Amino acid sequence: MNKHDSERMAGLLSTRGYEQTSDMASAEIIIFNTCAVRGHAEDRFFGNLNNLRREKKKRPNMIIAVGGCIAQKERDFIFEKAPHVDVVFGTHNMANLASLIESVELSRQAVCEIADKIEVMPTSLPSVREHAYHAWVPIIIGCNNFCTYCIVPYTRGREVSRPVDDIISEVKSLVADGVQEITLLGQNVNSYGRDIYGESRFAALLRALDKVEGLRRIRFTTSHPKDLSDDTIDAIASGEKICEHIHLPVQAGSNKVLKAMNRKYTKESYLETVNRIYDAIPGVSLTTDIMVGFPGETEEDFLDTLDIVEKARYDSAFTFIFSPRDGTLAAKMENQIPASVKSDRFDRLVELQNRISLEKNIELVGRNIEVFVEGISKKNKNVLTGRTRTNKIVNFVGPEYLIHKEAMVKIKEAHTWYLVGELL
Ligand code: SF4
Repeated sequence: MNKHDSERMAGLLSTRGYEQTSDMASAEIIIFNTCAVRGHAEDRFFGNLNNLRREKKKRPNMIIAVGGCIAQKERDFIFEKAPHVDVVFGTHNMANLASLIESVELSRQAVCEIADKIEVMPTSLPSVREHAYHAWVPIIIGCNNFCTYCIVPYTRGREVSRPVDDIISEVKSLVADGVQEITLLGQNVNSYGRDIYGESRFAALLRALDKVEGLRRIRFTTSHPKDLSDDTIDAIASGEKICEHIHLPVQAGSNKVLKAMNRKYTKESYLETVNRIYDAIPGVSLTTDIMVGFPGETEEDFLDTLDIVEKARYDSAFTFIFSPRDGTLAAKMENQIPASVKSDRFDRLVELQNRISLEKNIELVGRNIEVFVEGISKKNKNVLTGRTRTNKIVNFVGPEYLIHKEAMVKIKEAHTWYLVGELL
């Protein structure tokens, strides 16, 4: 969602005549689009902001703007800690970014705008996409779940869906503009439509988008395990363009920890969902997010996490060490886990997942797989890099005219994070 928002900010400012630069020393405006989901991201942001103090002294007309989730939650703290900041704008105020910047240009006074609710859907704003072939398409913004460790419902607000017709017409115009692949976005895509239609319409939306001519691949993220319906699994299984990849964050394997996290599923019900997915969608890839060191997590609880990882056999996982976020219930829990225990559990988890990722990739050796070619490998100019429908990276030697086209590739080598193939 943060990447998508950055593309909209770039689009908005480009219509006012601004151009993007990667050279900070010549930038007239520097925008931080911040993420508050983990402490590490927040610390890095404040470090980077502090580093700009000297530059701002040298070039007082340079404008520093801060948006995103940290801005939404820490408005006063940002000005207090960094008086050299000129603009603070919340997650719901992106549409006004250009006028906020213009107001600073005219008055040289710092401004702050933070709304509690979304007024203008960012999808109505212009966009400068990072890749011509791919677009992020938000379908629902916000979250009603209040997992006890998570700051998102406080920074992004409650769920607000877009009407089906609005999404379909945006996707059609993206396709007319050269987009071949879309990723539907939502903190919980499975909730899509509940606030408008009184029930989830995610499966129906997938089926409708599957019919859009010229579109090649439909991806989506993220699915809350408690809300993934059989209807959605069926839509993925039967869809022609809907990619066979589900990101299903498990977070933990112990029922005690899942309850303390307010995840509203159990280890058993989660594994039932996983089995339904594997049975219904041949060749599907399953990925997840897992957290270690949640307050009160015992060694036994952690062994449950390792057990669910063994049983679910994820293709890959984003693994995290719990970091307390101010304003959440988990940050106030007393039984916090010592850093050394968290890092030991983290290492054991990563080792197990890496073994499984490699095993699952080895199963693909010898298969012929359709790859959408995204570009040239950063490490070797003679090598093309692309993705399977299941979101695995495949590198292979091939001609440049295949870029942004599909190619059939025979998988020759498996690694933990990628595959190596041969063009057929
Ligand atoms: S479902 Fe839970 S983890 Fe995901 S955004 Fe909502 S509160 Fe955060």
